[in-house]
Amino acid sequence: MTDIEDRLGTTVPARTAGLAQLSALAEVVGRYATMRNYVDGPTTSRLSPYLRRRLVLEDEVLAFARAIGPFERVEKFVQEVVWRTYWKGWLEARPGVWNAYLARLRTLADTLSAADRDRLASATAAKTDLPYFNAWCAELKSTGYLHNHVRMWFASVWIFTLKLPWELGARFFLDHLLDGDPASNTLSWRWVAGLQTTGKHYLARADNIAKYTNGQWVPKPGELDESARPLPDDGLARVPALKPAVGLNGDAVQPRAVLMHAEDCGPLPNGWTDAPAVRYAVVPPPHHAPSGLVEAWVAGACADADARVRTVAHFRNANEVADWCRANGAVEVWAFRPLTGFVAPALFDLARELATTGVTLRYADRGHDIAFFPLATKGFFPYWEAAAGALRRQWM
Ligand SMILES: Cc1cc2nc3c(=O)[nH]c(=O)nc-3n(C[C@H](O)[C@H](O)[C@H](O)COP(=O)(O)OP(=O)(O)OC[C@H]3O[C@@H](n4cnc5c(N)ncnc54)[C@H](O)[C@@H]3O)c2cc1C
Repeated sequence: MTDIEDRLGTTVPARTAGLAQLSALAEVVGRYATMRNYVDGPTTSRLSPYLRRRLVLEDEVLAFARAIGPFERVEKFVQEVVWRTYWKGWLEARPGVWNAYLARLRTLADTLSAADRDRLASATAAKTDLPYFNAWCAELKSTGYLHNHVRMWFASVWIFTLKLPWELGARFFLDHLLDGDPASNTLSWRWVAGLQTTGKHYLARADNIAKYTNGQWVPKPGELDESARPLPDDGLARVPALKPAVGLNGDAVQPRAVLMHAEDCGPLPNGWTDAPAVRYAVVPPPHHAPSGLVEAWVAGACADADARVRTVAHFRNANEVADWCRANGAVEVWAFRPLTGFVAPALFDLARELATTGVTLRYADRGHDIAFFPLATKGFFPYWEAAAGALRRQWM
């Protein structure tokens, strides 16, 4: 076993492993509403790396929750599952927020002061004066995971106590989290900073950390800035929402050729598995340096998806894909839509190049996204009201 495989531990990038994990979650889901904020022990599902790459689908998690009990009993868990969908739908409707984040990373690379650079180096090397922050940083780098409450404390300390730019913290998370996700990550960091719900920020408090770590960490008085102001509004949370592109439900499509990519390693609908498939490898993401652990996880998830189709060819440039389409007599190739992030622009370029050879790249969507993205037009609570109504009907 390699060092990286060893460190991935029980989190194996395979659909069967994700489904096995899901099937063992009855107790965790049953007591989720009361236990989820405690960071110690199995208080949450740890399904996020599987959901992120769609090795396990949201609909499968919701079906599992339905089997556990009445809606009210599992409501908090279900709410979190579709919170992730909310962030994705929200960003699909405002891709400019993602582009602004990437643009800011570009300028920060050139404009960061020497003092900021020193604090950044200490923070990312787990060498600050805050032992709990250092421990969380080391845990993130060695496991690729942090509990949600720890992510909130980490981001808050980063922004308000260490006074580092939130974008660099978001980049650090995205480089190290196995579940690193453009929507959940960028928008959660913005939420902690007070940019997403304008004027409302999240301040990590010593007593909250002591309580929910069961006393493992007790920050000293005055160590954390518990009275910082939210970051100045950048106006991006109020940009008008676009209507997200929604294609056909993948279940209704019978493709002659399939294009696979790292954003969706999920089960292919019946009509897809016999079609010849091509995997398009996308160049490394701009301004990001995924850790070895993350690279191994993504490669594993892709290999797992490949093993579920009959044959798959691997290509890195548009000409090769076009030749492959020609050889397979395909004038149309279908993929699941890559959402806002690193893969979507690369597939946009590929589609343009394929079009010059008479081949159309078409996107299908997952049923869950088709149902819930259109509800993510404003804040989370109106979204949840509409989503809970639809979900309650599934429980009847
Ligand atoms: C600063 C910050 C950055 C984050 N970055 C990411 C990220 O890159 N990728 C990511 O998947 N999540 C991110 N989250 C959300 C959340 O922390 C993780 O989804 C969750 O901790 C995953 O652990 P779990 O699977 O045990 O979650 P559980 O508590 O078991 O929840 C079940 C599922 O619901 C979803 N979920 C739970 N909490 C949230 C939440 N607050 N927001 C959105 N979805 C949620 C996840 O898909 C999760 O797997 C971030 C949160 C913060 C505060």
